[in-house]
Amino acid sequence: MKVPFLDLRVPEPLKSELLDAVGAVLDHGRILLGPELDEFEKVVAQRVGVKHAIGVDSGSSAVMLALRALDIGSGDEVITTSLSWIATANAITMTGATPIFVDVRDDLEIDPNGIEAFITKKTKAIVPVHFCGKMCDMEAICAIAEKHNLHIVEDCAQVFGGEIEQGKAGSFSSIACFSMNCMKVLHSYGEAGCVVTDDDVYAEKLELLRYAGTVNRQDCHVPSMNHRLDTLQAAMLLVNLRRYDEIVDRRRAIAAKYHEIMGDVVGYQDAGAEQGHIYYTFSIFAERRDELMGFLAENEIETKLNHNPPMPYHTAYKPLNQGPFPNVERLSEIAMCLPVHEKLTDDQVEFVATKVKEFYGA
Ligand SMILES: *Cc1c(COP(=O)(O)O)cnc(C)c1O
Repeated sequence: MKVPFLDLRVPEPLKSELLDAVGAVLDHGRILLGPELDEFEKVVAQRVGVKHAIGVDSGSSAVMLALRALDIGSGDEVITTSLSWIATANAITMTGATPIFVDVRDDLEIDPNGIEAFITKKTKAIVPVHFCGKMCDMEAICAIAEKHNLHIVEDCAQVFGGEIEQGKAGSFSSIACFSMNCMKVLHSYGEAGCVVTDDDVYAEKLELLRYAGTVNRQDCHVPSMNHRLDTLQAAMLLVNLRRYDEIVDRRRAIAAKYHEIMGDVVGYQDAGAEQGHIYYTFSIFAERRDELMGFLAENEIETKLNHNPPMPYHTAYKPLNQGPFPNVERLSEIAMCLPVHEKLTDDQVEFVATKVKEFYGA
């Protein structure tokens, strides 16, 4: 039984719905900043529970534009986690600011206890990343930000719709950022992203930065590139938003099934199937991990590492000479992701879990 890690093919009836949405845009012809983009922004803002959402061309741009809208740039420092897709560090760097990496907890999320030691006069913001679709400890992070008068810019690329007791993903920030590229849980069919904020002034600044730094698309006030989100992608995102809760429910059910079958044969990033976790990835901690990945590959089960190496260990960031990061180093040796996408059948999920158990002789 083949189990792909991701399957980006689009079956019917979804395919027809998407083609209808695309057809409507081609018919009205408002290809750039069209009505579907307005509608998409309205729905996203509503779902996050903030006033403004502004669609942009990628999650990377979203983080960079959020920081720029907060006037963060050259000479500033931005504190972030050591474990994320490298886009998080790159977006900080592209503003001219320096990323300051912090070690993670045992659940792969930024360790709030590690943050304060790195706050200096140059620190302007904290960029927590809700890694794998599980939320960070926002209560602790918000308390630190408030105490030191820092912005929070959540990187919500992996967690659209995620939630904890204190609030929804994206609602804790001056400006929060989403990616909706074709591999995320809420996804377009190409590249897409979004920034959200409750603040009218930031929203205005973000709209300006989205399109060449222009006011009324005419006079350039701040040099910026073109970061518009295509109306076509927004139209297809609206279709996926309509079925989004179902998608997340399915992923949560798969996570619960993995826990049920595998028990304590492996360790887990989540504490049992968590309600607010959207399971962008299902991350486990495995003894003899590389051997396990090899065994699963022999059985045609595709697995992945959690963004390895951690960000401070990329060639571009080694010269910053930060660290040590003992926990992320240790966890990077044992962490891996099992397939958890919504197209998996129950049989496939059971097959994966059973093969993991078989590997450990359980
Ligand atoms: C995907 C991702 C990004 C970048 O988003 P793109 O749309 O690919 O530019 C940033 N941060 C995290 C945590 C991501 O997973």
